[in-house]
Amino acid sequence: MTLLASESRMAGTILIVEDNDNNRILLRDILEFHGYKTMEASNGDDGVRMAKEPGLGLVLMDIQMPGKNGFEAIKELRGDPATKGLVIIALTSFAMKGDRERILAAGFDDYLAKPINTRKLPEIIKKYLPGT
Ligand code: MN
Repeated sequence: MTLLASESRMAGTILIVEDNDNNRILLRDILEFHGYKTMEASNGDDGVRMAKEPGLGLVLMDIQMPGKNGFEAIKELRGDPATKGLVIIALTSFAMKGDRERILAAGFDDYLAKPINTRKLPEIIKKYLPGT
């Protein structure tokens, strides 16, 4: 299904860090449909470890998850020279006013609210991975 798209575009690999299986599968399906390669982690500890692998284009990271939560994970990744500049977008179901500011202040580049908007997701990825 995505063979042609991924062959014609050198899209950076996207790491999905999300503990909810349904959300993770949905994210993977949308991203692969748009030609991106993906990697997946289902908890914060694996997510942080995998985020440090070279060649990663972008990380989508849930906030509430087992192991390190999103705030703990971003703190560690921003403190590491290897991942300091990595694009990391928060995924969260928080809908309260002020959460966006809190998320950006923590070091995330952007914020995507859940439930995932299937049209908004590729738009935000394209903004941070231009030319993909
Ligand atoms: Mn979660």
